[in-house]
Amino acid sequence: MADIYLLLGGNLGNRPAFLQQARESLAIEVGAITSSSRLYETAAWGKTDQPAFLNQVLRLRTELQPEQVLLAIHRIEQELGRERVEHWGARVIDIDILFYEDLVLQTQRLTIPHPQLHKRRFTLMPLVELAPELVHPVLQQTVKSLLENCEDALEVHEFMEQPE
Ligand code: ADP
Ligand code: MG
Repeated sequence: MADIYLLLGGNLGNRPAFLQQARESLAIEVGAITSSSRLYETAAWGKTDQPAFLNQVLRLRTELQPEQVLLAIHRIEQELGRERVEHWGARVIDIDILFYEDLVLQTQRLTIPHPQLHKRRFTLMPLVELAPELVHPVLQQTVKSLLENCEDALEVHEFMEQPE
């Protein structure tokens, strides 16, 4: 059994609903969700006509190996993407592996820890909620200190869900 951290993100369609569908599929296909952050909203990079992103970090317990987790999240991304926006190039959901225990892995298909995680406020804000003291196995810094030192200027705020 391994503890893993995943980042969910999406900026198309009913964003909270897609995050929820992703959580449901992950719980079935990858493993039990043992903790989940609040939802955070970040303005899309550059292009201002793009809708803002919603992000969430989850901790799961899985029996899958890292490559199998990657296959499962690609399958879930495809399932959710096909459902609503087949004519659209963009995916409604992106799922990235942030940490897999304290594993350090670099292959053609997979880099763990995720190579961008320490550079992105929209990743660190939800992650610090779940695991402030977790030590990045390459940078040898806690998540909390990575956030304190993060130079990403993009504003990230907590997302308040509007009742339908
Ligand atoms: P992005 O996440 O950068 O928006 P994609 O989701 O299309 O783009 O991912 C591109 C590729 O990144 C995937 O096909 C996958 O093989 C690779 N990848 C490498 N490391 C990771 C990781 N830690 N988590 C998820 N994907 C990864
Ligand atoms: Mg991805």
